[in-house]
Amino acid sequence: MKAQTLRIWNRQYLAPALISAIITLFITLFISYEQAEQHKQLQQRDLKTKARQLSEWLDINYSIINNVLIDLEKLSNQCSEEILFDMRSIMFNVAPVVEMGIIDADGQLICTSWKKHEKPIFVTPPPSQLGLRFLGPVNVEYMKQPAFVLARSLKQGGEVNALVRISWLKNQLQNRSSELGFTGLIHSDTGRPIIMNGPYARPQSGLKLPIDQPKVVEAEFNNGLEQVAAYSPLITFPELSVVISDEKQIIFGDQRNLSIQGIALCLSVWFLLTLLFQYLIVYLSDSAHLLKKAIKHGEFFNLYQPLIKASDKQIMGVEVLMRWQHPAEGLKNPVTFIPEAEEKGFINKMTSQQLKNCYDELRPILLSHPDFIVTINISSNHLLDAKSVRELIHYKTLIPNLVLEVTEDVLVDGEDDRIQKAFIKLTAASIEIAIDDFGTGYCGLHYLGQLPVKYLKADKCFIASIGTDSINSHILEMIVSLAKKLDLITIAEGVETPHQVAHLDKLGIEIHQGWHYSRAIPAHELLQLIKISEQRSKRDIEIEEEATC
Ligand code: C2E
Ligand code: CA
Ligand code: CA
Repeated sequence: MKAQTLRIWNRQYLAPALISAIITLFITLFISYEQAEQHKQLQQRDLKTKARQLSEWLDINYSIINNVLIDLEKLSNQCSEEILFDMRSIMFNVAPVVEMGIIDADGQLICTSWKKHEKPIFVTPPPSQLGLRFLGPVNVEYMKQPAFVLARSLKQGGEVNALVRISWLKNQLQNRSSELGFTGLIHSDTGRPIIMNGPYARPQSGLKLPIDQPKVVEAEFNNGLEQVAAYSPLITFPELSVVISDEKQIIFGDQRNLSIQGIALCLSVWFLLTLLFQYLIVYLSDSAHLLKKAIKHGEFFNLYQPLIKASDKQIMGVEVLMRWQHPAEGLKNPVTFIPEAEEKGFINKMTSQQLKNCYDELRPILLSHPDFIVTINISSNHLLDAKSVRELIHYKTLIPNLVLEVTEDVLVDGEDDRIQKAFIKLTAASIEIAIDDFGTGYCGLHYLGQLPVKYLKADKCFIASIGTDSINSHILEMIVSLAKKLDLITIAEGVETPHQVAHLDKLGIEIHQGWHYSRAIPAHELLQLIKISEQRSKRDIEIEEEATC
């Protein structure tokens, strides 16, 4: 009992809870993964935007410087007071510029925004290529600090240039990138760093050079760390790119922690799934649902137990017994499902299927032996339903010796109007009745005279008592004598031993049924059995005839 309670508890509560937990876990993992991916993409986009904004900011500054250099370029390559003044006002107005200079065609720095060089300083001769270019970082003569040089060559030879303090650039870059691990400027073609904030590292894979468009790379870097980097080339100097990078964990954050809301959601999902599974289990294991499904899928089938004629021990008929080939529990005996089927109102449909199967399977015997008895167990539900009664009458035309086995309590129910009407219809159709398990229930014996009862099936318990001194052994004798007086045929059920056979023969019981002769068997085995028994009796007759000759 304890084990069964535990099994029910496991099936009804533990299993749904576990299955729901596993499903919830999968859902949570899936959602977390999706969220992490989304978050990652957002962070990558964010990093790319930051890099692009930085490159745009640099572009704006370089464009401004370019414009002032163009203005200066128009003036002259001389170092007049006027030009000196212009250069200083540029410095004053354009924040990043710390120094301006003019180089003549021979590569001599003749003038800076500080002063005119009486003794020009020899620097690299300017190239003839026009347009904005950069140089550096170079050390500024006066401040002894590195600077980034933006220069434009003059048509008449020489160049004008503006120096941007590297430390200022560095600070700006870092402040504008929320101080991530590394921010800097690199060569787009080679990846070589020019301005660095933080330790610079390159991805081991995934970065295609030259960098010609904004991109994000997530990879293992050559410092051995898993990092993410965003690259954005400048428009003013495509050969330069802004880089922002940091460790993956810092950029994406720690995704492993579930929020309180997440935990609450998981628990709710788990709880709802558990309820759903519990409901499904209860619904699916509901006997009504199972029986209905079994009828639909034809899981009920017939076995036939031979009825043996006592005088010659030949098969003279069968009792049709039902079995259930349950998809999960295997073969089930009728005592485990018939009462439920009667209670839930499925027995009529099952008996109807049984009759059809019976006719289909026994047709060869019925054709060759029209007097072959076929007894079928009928419950009171069946008799209460007019349609089922009509069906029985129909089958009587197909199975000429169809006998209905009813128990004594059904006869007691006979007081119900509908059952009485059913019996009247059955009598009119000449359908005979066998009283099943006779002697075990209450029966007002007066019904025996009113109904088309032809057989009394003495219950197994009376046959089992043969050879004992119990009261049942006397009851069996009384049943036999009652049947004889009422001109009824007695069938002994549950005949298991030769000793019982001998005793039943002595009592003059006409029909035997029991394992001594055969268990309930499928139709094909029954057909085989009948064939063998007929061959044997034919041979016996022949031997007998030969002996008398
Ligand atoms: P029942 O109508 O009294 O059927 C006889 C039962 O005794 C059968 O059990 C049969 O297999 C068993 N039996 C036969 N010979 C022997 C024997 O020598 N020794 C012993 N110990 N038992 C023997 P089964 O097939 O398990 O059926 C049990 C009960 O289920 C039946 O008792 C009947 O009340 C019910 N049942 C079986 N099939 C149907 C059916 O198709 N419709 C209805 N309404 N009830 C059925
Ligand atoms: Ca029976
Ligand atoms: Ca019986």
